[in-house]
Amino acid sequence: MTTAATDTPDDLFQDALKNLDEAFAYAEIHPEALERLRHPRTSIEVSIPVRMDSGEIRVFTGYRVRHDDTRGPGKGGIRFHPKVDIAEVKALAFWMTCKCAVMSLPFGGAKGGIEVDPKELSKLELERLSRRFIQRIADFIGPDVDVPAPDVYTNPMIMGWMMDEYSKITRHHTPAVITGKPIPLGGSLGRNEATGRGAYFCIKEHELHRGWDPKTTTVAIQGFGNAGQAVAQLLHADGYQIVAVSDSKGGIHRKEGFHIPSLIQAKNDSHRLQAVYCQNGLCTLMEAQSISNQELLELDVDILIPAALENVITSANADKIKARTLVEVANGPVSTDASPILRENDVYVIPDILANAGGVTVSYFEWVQNKAGFYWTEEEVNQRLLEKMRTEFHNVYDLSQIHDIDMRTAAYVLALKRIGAALTAQGTKDYFEAQQP
Ligand code: NAD
Repeated sequence: MTTAATDTPDDLFQDALKNLDEAFAYAEIHPEALERLRHPRTSIEVSIPVRMDSGEIRVFTGYRVRHDDTRGPGKGGIRFHPKVDIAEVKALAFWMTCKCAVMSLPFGGAKGGIEVDPKELSKLELERLSRRFIQRIADFIGPDVDVPAPDVYTNPMIMGWMMDEYSKITRHHTPAVITGKPIPLGGSLGRNEATGRGAYFCIKEHELHRGWDPKTTTVAIQGFGNAGQAVAQLLHADGYQIVAVSDSKGGIHRKEGFHIPSLIQAKNDSHRLQAVYCQNGLCTLMEAQSISNQELLELDVDILIPAALENVITSANADKIKARTLVEVANGPVSTDASPILRENDVYVIPDILANAGGVTVSYFEWVQNKAGFYWTEEEVNQRLLEKMRTEFHNVYDLSQIHDIDMRTAAYVLALKRIGAALTAQGTKDYFEAQQP
């Protein structure tokens, strides 16, 4: 991807923490709570030896970080990517703590990852790697301890292998140890599209403020995987004009908009992003311009949706963003030094810890269904998600209006208030001093 890599902060976790300082001024919580959040509760690094198809052993490095569990068990995905490192996993775990608090879910934050390019592995190697990772971290996770889920380049089948491995180790069938599983293995209906659907619900709430007509509203989406495809599909069905999409290899742009179900079909059949129109199973190529990921970000569209990786908008390119609304479906796509530039340029940002929280919300529903052994219909899942997204969107929006702050700061204020209340309930310096004789 042509990102401003040189501008990426060295330590993503330290950069992510800067959001707390800004929000603290409005959150009315004890400073001790803030101090607690600066330090992840536990981080582990594991080596994962895997027997490759060639017969050789290759050793991969994996991580699991539990950032905070004051409000409940840790919750957060597992990423397979060559650039995974401990700072990234800590940042992602911290965002999960804040996201679960914004959505008022009874979870803290966690995250995991393996430094690997999964595209280089055969399916059997991928299964061995996934199971081996669980063997390494089994003492560290559990339905009431830390509950993983999918993230970049992991999927329901991988979650199914991981759940199976954990159940073998504990000798108990334990579906609630992991979410995002295939439906026959205890997954929830609606989970696969939940991240995109949650972002779509946010856009619909924002649409009321903007007074948009979807038919004349243009959208560019970076990343055409699980989250990117789902939000694209819902927006397209609603009449929005998706004029550009991209994946790791680059993007395509067409002023008249794309037929999203065709792009999804072609991508899933051929693993390639192609400008096509499909009818009755037959796909024909359409005229479209090839663009780089950087060019996609700078397109003159109404809504820009980064749905791939973090730090794609930094101080190096923030000034070039022309979209009026930016919906952060990826985690951390905007670096903290880019935020003030976007604010100054009147780019309205719906932040990641709200915009992509549909995924963890339906993961919570999956965990509840697994624990109860009682499963909901897709309509029930989607309806509950809608209610949750609407409620918390308005809670964040109201805080932004009351304090005259942007939506990102407001989302962190809401998170800090809820986490701060839980930490304060365990006692702060003021409480203990007051107990002295
Ligand atoms: P995915 O693996 O299904 O898709 C990732 C997409 O990004 C793919 O289309 C891939 O080609 C593209 N991509 C990878 N590297 C890229 C690059 N360098 N430039 C441009 N595109 C690139 O992953 P996903 O689950 O859709 O996750 C995408 C983002 O959404 C991540 O930031 C993830 O943390 C976040 N997210 C996902 C979920 C979820 O439930 N899946 C929930 C919350 C947040």
